[in-house]
Amino acid sequence: MNCLFCRLANGEISSDILYEDKEVIAFRDIHPQAPHHVLVIPRRHIATINDANQEDSSLIGKLTLTAQQVAKDLGVAQDGYRLVMNCNGDGGQTVFHVHLHLLAGRAMHWPPG
Ligand code: 5GP
Ligand code: ZN
Repeated sequence: MNCLFCRLANGEISSDILYEDKEVIAFRDIHPQAPHHVLVIPRRHIATINDANQEDSSLIGKLTLTAQQVAKDLGVAQDGYRLVMNCNGDGGQTVFHVHLHLLAGRAMHWPPG
């Protein structure tokens, strides 16, 4: 498996991990776009959100609840944060293993670029 995030999930590539369990991992993005920029991924390879199905619903939901817990742990939950999942070309996805971005520590702009 040549997927970057699969390799990161199995420890072949090191990362700054904030949370992990059997199903998901949260780690700091290597090119942070905000004071806190964390990626939450499933350990299991799902290339894009287009490839998730009904059986993945609790796993996909867990990405969001993990991001919520990380935001609380980082002390940014009250001020607020943004969760983003990019899909394919127009969405700006560059790593094809599903991941949820948690961005926090500054005010976000809307509409996004
Ligand atoms: P996407 O553009 O696919 O939504 O997001 C991919 C993210 O992965 C980018 O924000 C990028 O900075 C991050 N990224 C790419 N390679 C690595 C890496 O090796 N380690 C970490 N921690 N983040 C990475
Ligand atoms: Zn993968």
